[in-house]
Amino acid sequence: MSDCLFCKMASGEIKPDVVYEDEKVLAFRDINPKAPVHILVIPKIHVATLNDLNNGDLAGLLLQTVAKIAQQEGVAESGYRTIINCNSDGGQEVYHLHLHLLGGKKITSPLA
Ligand code: AMP
Ligand code: ZN
Repeated sequence: MSDCLFCKMASGEIKPDVVYEDEKVLAFRDINPKAPVHILVIPKIHVATLNDLNNGDLAGLLLQTVAKIAQQEGVAESGYRTIINCNSDGGQEVYHLHLHLLGGKKITSPLA
């Protein structure tokens, strides 16, 4: 989608602080981190919300990527929280599916 911020990151048009990339997923540091480790994991194809995710293989890959990055960032053992905000009441601001990975401190509250 041409006007989607995260699609522009997936295509390389905008360059975020990338921590992991493969053929299907991209992970980068959140620009407004809510924890010492705050990373967003996205599919490279445009999926607007969790409601639109109809590919189980991609869903699994996104979750496995979160776990892989948690290892990479050194928070797998101490722990972390994964959040997916969906639509207005869920607090979704960017309408390209993303999984938040939060760690590096005790995560006591959901994202504001
Ligand atoms: P959500 O509320 O779940 O849609 O979260 C969107 C997230 O994207 C927020 O945590 C923002 O800080 C983050 N974000 C927005 N723009 C950028 C950007 N250019 N680079 C990295 N993260 C961003
Ligand atoms: Zn998109």
